[in-house]
Amino acid sequence: MKYDYLGVGSGLFGSIFAYEANKRGKKVLVIDKRPNVGGNIYTENIDGINVHKYGAHIFHTSNKEVWDYINQFAEFNRYTNSPVARYKNELYNLPFNLNTFSKMFNLVTLQDIEKKLDEERKEGLAKLNGREPQNLEEQAISLVGTTVYEKLIKGYTEKQWGMSCKELPVSIIKRLPVRMVFDNNYFNNKYQGIPIGGYTQIIEKMLDGIEVKLNCDFFENRSELQNIAEKIVFTGSIDQYYDYKFGYLEYRSVRFETEELDVDNYQGNAVINYTDKEVPYTRVIEHKHFEQGKELGNEVTEGPSVGKTIISREYSDKWDSTKEPYYPINNERNNTLYEKYKALADKDSNIIFGGRLGQYKYYDMDKVIEEALKCVKNEIK
Ligand code: FAD
Ligand code: UDP
Repeated sequence: MKYDYLGVGSGLFGSIFAYEANKRGKKVLVIDKRPNVGGNIYTENIDGINVHKYGAHIFHTSNKEVWDYINQFAEFNRYTNSPVARYKNELYNLPFNLNTFSKMFNLVTLQDIEKKLDEERKEGLAKLNGREPQNLEEQAISLVGTTVYEKLIKGYTEKQWGMSCKELPVSIIKRLPVRMVFDNNYFNNKYQGIPIGGYTQIIEKMLDGIEVKLNCDFFENRSELQNIAEKIVFTGSIDQYYDYKFGYLEYRSVRFETEELDVDNYQGNAVINYTDKEVPYTRVIEHKHFEQGKELGNEVTEGPSVGKTIISREYSDKWDSTKEPYYPINNERNNTLYEKYKALADKDSNIIFGGRLGQYKYYDMDKVIEEALKCVKNEIK
């Protein structure tokens, strides 16, 4: 065999595996069907602004080992994600915290807010009658009550996932903190930031000295690639690898409309979520704020902050096999189906499935790093 490993996909999982295997003396070929490395964390410098081409990526973790690992490849800034939610012409801080509730109910004290939230939750909790919430709607109402659910969750979630909140798993909304303090930090993690200079440098450093073929789809070159290496590390969709033989797993796709504008500062924040169902996009990202936000308004007269900005409107899109799968939809139907594919994979000693699509899990970057490092450790003694 020509290689020890064929890495299908140059995203975070595939690149970490390749880097670690190469370090241990293994010969690796990495292919990717896209024209660029990095998968969904790819950033491109356009006119001095690092544009997150496949959606805004904020690194966050509580795992020190993961934080130290990623910091080998780039210096991180102290960016704290604090998205703003816009519901029609009202603005609210996220995640759900005292700033959100105080504005929503026009209340000032913690005691009054607590009392109001108890009232807001009452009807939902009565419906549960002591049982655990079974779907996203029930979970959301039991956490934040009806008004916050109606204004900040229902419209956004149904646009994002293309289905009713009653059909979605509770796990999705559990990603967001609910805090009874004035704190707009979106994440509870100990470490958070954006790599200064973007994410692509991280992947490029990982893949330095490794053979990489871009614009190369595994399925279009399957006969040639299937036996080119002792083992395949596959980070594409697991159901596609097995020709969808048990049926299709469902995904959600995303479409980005990116525009350069001749203003210093378009929206005053990196992320604004549009939570009503009438606005067709879910969020607008203004990329410069991830790395240059603090300069704005501080009389900076030169450099990339001056005179222009780049924004992306993010539209959630129904997935079919001609579109990029971005989000696994981890409901019961899909998780059960995934287990069938996983059972097949477990019997095949020539392939490892990794990452968001290979493991069909709504992983953030930190979890992907943990999984990739665990995988290398098991694989190469
Ligand atoms: P991917 O990045 O999807 O890489 C898989 C690669 O495999 C791709 O490059 C693809 O082209 C390639 N591939 C697939 N099939 C084939 C094939 N047949 N042949 C060849 N190549 C193939 N995480 C965070 O921690 N913080 C965030 O703020 C955050 N924001 C996100 C926003 C959006 C819109 C999305 C979609 C995800 C976000 N994530 C975030 C999650 C993050 O993107 C993932 O955890 C991480 O990028 C997954 O890495 P991966 O290697 O598993 O997959
Ligand atoms: N969510 C919401 N309103 C918001 C932001 C998020 O209802 O303004 C819900 C929505 O269901 C979303 C989930 O919370 O899918 C998780 O949000 P997160 O920001 O983690 O989504 P991601 O960045 O992964 O798309």
